[in-house]
Amino acid sequence: MLAETDVVIVGGGLAGLAAARRLHRAGVPWRLVEAEGRLGGRVATDVLDGHLIDRGFQVLNTAYPRLGTLLDTDQLNLGYFTSGVLVRKGDKLLRLVNPLREPTGGPGTALAGVGSLLDRLRFAALATGCATLPASRLLAAPETTSETALRRAGLSDAIIEELLRPFLSGVFIDRELSTSSHVLAMVLRSFARGRIGLPAEGMAALPRAIAAPLPADLLDLDTPVAEVTPGRVRTQAGDIRCRAVVVAVDPPAAAALLPALATVRMHSYTTYYHSAPEPPLTEPILLVDGDRRELVANTVVLSNAAATYAPAGRHLIATSVVGPTAPPEPTIRAELTRLYGRSTADWTHLTTVAIPEALPAAPPPQGRLRKPVALGEGLFVAGDHRDSPSIQGALTSGWRAAGAVLDELRAG
Ligand SMILES: Cc1cc2nc3c(=O)[nH]c(=O)nc-3n(C[C@H](O)[C@H](O)[C@H](O)COP(=O)(O)OP(=O)(O)OC[C@H]3O[C@@H](n4cnc5c(N)ncnc54)[C@H](O)[C@@H]3O)c2cc1C
Repeated sequence: MLAETDVVIVGGGLAGLAAARRLHRAGVPWRLVEAEGRLGGRVATDVLDGHLIDRGFQVLNTAYPRLGTLLDTDQLNLGYFTSGVLVRKGDKLLRLVNPLREPTGGPGTALAGVGSLLDRLRFAALATGCATLPASRLLAAPETTSETALRRAGLSDAIIEELLRPFLSGVFIDRELSTSSHVLAMVLRSFARGRIGLPAEGMAALPRAIAAPLPADLLDLDTPVAEVTPGRVRTQAGDIRCRAVVVAVDPPAAAALLPALATVRMHSYTTYYHSAPEPPLTEPILLVDGDRRELVANTVVLSNAAATYAPAGRHLIATSVVGPTAPPEPTIRAELTRLYGRSTADWTHLTTVAIPEALPAAPPPQGRLRKPVALGEGLFVAGDHRDSPSIQGALTSGWRAAGAVLDELRAG
């Protein structure tokens, strides 16, 4: 088969879908080719014994600027988490809440018992700056690693090791906190300005909602692309001739299709899913390990945020570990008994989801988090490796790549 269109988008993850939406709105002929039998890429949800199992614990932040262009988040029926974390420290569970978003949490509870009073004031100043300064100013600041930035902000070893490293390691999927301080600034900004939640139908509802306005006959599923050259995309079903190609695949696949791109290191993530007859906590809040054991990054009762994640009478707990080595489930279960401070003997281990290539590493320099998307000769690239490693980064990269295509088509 030899087909023809103006633009071929390779990859139907969030970046590819955002690109398709922009091209479709502009009325330019396009097709999207996706290797798998479904859209969404790294955002996927399976159903297991009536539980919604996302392919690795992930959440949607309502402050991501690109979301509003693509959907009304109300249609996702989000169940929200408390804006804050619980920290297990010895026999205590300490509670950090964002006082701007959770006024009933009370300022006295914010960070109490984690770090010193000076730490709390300095962290509040850092987060407030990220929330209120223009993004352009945050991204023009001198860039270093997140760990160095936190230390330069005057934060003590105690608050970094007992709160920030466990919490941020789950966000960046990077225990070393070697991620760029510019990514850190954007993450703190999103957490301070938005809420985090789960769609009632699982995270896969996000790509589904973004794809909904696109005509199904322009979306070729089960069609892996073997080769991309200027003006031509080779698939197992035949070639497609076109004026422009947007390669919106995951970073390792992008390096294979576009050898000129630098290889990106990927961080690994494993999530253990347990079902329990009683929830170990009643609040929808992330729990991190402040005891410096460096095994579990975070654990959370997902069904406290979105009851649809578990069938009636059950509760779904997701526990995540950062790094390539995933400990056996009994080791994690023992940690969960300690972290929640109650027996987990009546919990059922549903499944363990290991994602070896979960998120691209984003060490400094990342600059303004905008890597070039136009490669010349009608080739374009999108994906979370072109912007910040996040849902926002993937969406905005696709939007940007489609904008660059439109500029080139109009000029040519
Ligand atoms: C476990 C986990 C937790 C996360 N947590 C969060 C979070 O809480 N918040 C957040 O903001 N972000 C989070 N992220 C990151 C976010 O999910 C990703 O950044 C984003 O989904 C990447 O989208 P993408 O379109 O760039 O790439 P992908 O989703 O990887 O999409 C690429 C698509 O290209 C297809 N493809 C690959 N090769 C080919 C080929 N040869 N031919 C055709 N198609 C091909 C793939 O099948 C895939 O569908 C998490 C990611 C993971 C894995």
